[in-house]
Amino acid sequence: MSEEYPFKHSKLRSMVDSVYDSEALNSFRKSGQIIAKLRKEIASIVKPGKPALKICVEIESRIRELGGKPAFPVNIGINEIAAHYTSPPGDTLTIPSGSMVKVDFGVHVNGYVTDTAVTVFYDPKFEPMVKAADDALQNAIKTFRGGVKLSDIGRVIQTTIGKYGFRPISNLTGHSIERYSIHAGKSVPNVPVLAAGKANEGEVFAIEPFVTLPDAAGSVTNMLPAQIYRYIKSKGVKNDESKKVLDDIYARFSTLPFAPRWLEDKFPRETAKRAMLDLTHNKCVGGYPVLVEETRRPVAQSEHTVLVGRDDCTVLTTD
Ligand code: MN
Ligand code: MN
Repeated sequence: MSEEYPFKHSKLRSMVDSVYDSEALNSFRKSGQIIAKLRKEIASIVKPGKPALKICVEIESRIRELGGKPAFPVNIGINEIAAHYTSPPGDTLTIPSGSMVKVDFGVHVNGYVTDTAVTVFYDPKFEPMVKAADDALQNAIKTFRGGVKLSDIGRVIQTTIGKYGFRPISNLTGHSIERYSIHAGKSVPNVPVLAAGKANEGEVFAIEPFVTLPDAAGSVTNMLPAQIYRYIKSKGVKNDESKKVLDDIYARFSTLPFAPRWLEDKFPRETAKRAMLDLTHNKCVGGYPVLVEETRRPVAQSEHTVLVGRDDCTVLTTD
């Protein structure tokens, strides 16, 4: 998952919450190890002609098999779709031949989330864009340390991508992570941004450069309908059926993002659909719109989650 900039944060957490005990750190590490293992399987799971729904379900099942839970629905971003598409129930979308596909997935262990993205491509013309995204991420990781200005990270990412002749997506960012909170208050920009703040030792961040073509707008815009939702509040639900669905959402996913298809484990499709309409209307759940590059140019992405140290950072999502 990525964050749209500027993002309105409902609550900024206190500093105390960002200092983790060893149990929390072990959970972060376990979550990251599951991701590291799955990153190696992505190229064999995603194939042209394969249904997106099958890919989402397969990756989410592997996460559970390895002892984690999906921190959010698997995002499948084909070509100009930058983020936040997951298969709706009964999805018929398949991976097009000659496409570039961003697979963005997250794992949580006891609410401790790690987040990653891999871009695969079926036309060699996309290789330089993917290389630029990977290289920008590596350079950002090399620069990340306690006290670093997040704007400086944005500059490193922009400069690296520029050297390849491409441009970053300026209104998508990485983000700080806290327990059961994927977007915990700080953004990691992909361009230099005024007043972006600093990273502190002990904090966890997802860094995620997005790369597009030099003649693109270099920004994303919302595309409806949303396919990913999250719990917002319980107040205002009148319908008993909707209330049951909302209770299940909070019990199973807490405040983490979920996909309507996940509700079908517990409710018939039509019940879930009716409840989701009602809950969205009452603002008890909120949708993340699909994010598409404004000029419909292709987008590549690379993402890792890091734990900030005093003089460096530790990548949690690799071996
Ligand atoms: Mn992310
Ligand atoms: Mn992500």
